[in-house]
Amino acid sequence: MLAALALVPACFGQAQPILGEDTVKVSDHVWAIMGFPNIGIVVGSTAVLVIDTGLGPRNGATIARVAAKLAPNHKLYLTTTHFHPEHAAGEPGFPAGTILIRNKVQQDEMDQHGEEIIDTFASRNEVQKELLANVKLRRPDETFDKERSLDLGGGVTARLLWFGEAHSKGDELTFVEPDKTLISGDVVQNKVVPNISASGGTPSTWIAVLDQISRLGALHVLPDHSAVGDGSLVKMERSFIADLQTRALALKRQGIPADDAGKQLTAEFKMKYPDWPINNVTNFVKSIYAE
Ligand SMILES: [Zn+2]
Ligand SMILES: [Zn+2]
Repeated sequence: MLAALALVPACFGQAQPILGEDTVKVSDHVWAIMGFPNIGIVVGSTAVLVIDTGLGPRNGATIARVAAKLAPNHKLYLTTTHFHPEHAAGEPGFPAGTILIRNKVQQDEMDQHGEEIIDTFASRNEVQKELLANVKLRRPDETFDKERSLDLGGGVTARLLWFGEAHSKGDELTFVEPDKTLISGDVVQNKVVPNISASGGTPSTWIAVLDQISRLGALHVLPDHSAVGDGSLVKMERSFIADLQTRALALKRQGIPADDAGKQLTAEFKMKYPDWPINNVTNFVKSIYAE
């Protein structure tokens, strides 16, 4: 029995992409479905805002049911943290009349790469193929440049924000008042090695985004692929990226190739950040070398 348990791999492997209906309360007006990815639900007295759609329409429909249970007969807003399929491709599962809003940069990125990345995700395995079958991405009802403030009623406001490029070009942040809760997408995670996607920003633009986020003064943070935390996650994310950047640039100046630097810094950061489940920092080191 013990031997069998020891064989269970310590990594998370392929995330389970089917969301359930259980929620956790993050703050006074914010709930989350924890899964792949975590979904934010912000409830005011007249309107409810859902952040992210799950992978494909079946997950979108699950989320819409949960939102309707938490906030019956409310106006339904939907936004997405970025254009990747587990965050945006569940939109067709939401009911007619859902008001879809996202920032312009994210929409442009989706217009360019949205279909292509859905095909990539669908080709990974049968479950994802089925979940993403016949997904048609629709135009948003509204786009914004840098900020759109949504009044959800009862004094609850959700500020949809675009501060610049990080994990993707169009990373959107949602800041909920009066809770001071940040729904942070991939930009602020809880002890997850950062990752810049093919169309994303640079380590420096990511740090610049974090500097703007820190001025919001978040008390609670709901990331999309890790556990809920408090406002200290923002500072922790920034320190990790800045630390890795400093070390990688030092090795680059010594003429060490990026792959070797990646290996060396993976070992070093495993020691330095023992409570982070670090597999490999090489991809981020390459992003640092490239900029
Ligand atoms: Zn992503
Ligand atoms: Zn994701």
